[in-house]
Amino acid sequence: MILESVITCPHCAIAKSEAMPTDACQFFYTCTGCGATLHTAPYYLAMIAPVLVLASGVVSVDFYAWLSLAVLILGGSTIIWWATERAWGKFS
Ligand SMILES: [Zn+2]
Repeated sequence: MILESVITCPHCAIAKSEAMPTDACQFFYTCTGCGATLHTAPYYLAMIAPVLVLASGVVSVDFYAWLSLAVLILGGSTIIWWATERAWGKFS
């Protein structure tokens, strides 16, 4: 997994788009403009935090959507089965 991130150097204000592998411990980034070493950990956190929130939110929404759908299907089929039984019981 590689995330594309724009790193803006606070020393020379050069913005550079960097492909940052999330599995690499690249917490330090050397600026190509002035050669200053930047701490990229805050950038990682700024990128990862919303993604995690979004991912967990999507997963839970999907899970509860599936759960409610399953309950709806089970409940609906049970009601239909029960109603059909009652109807058939009445008719026979
Ligand atoms: Zn710089």
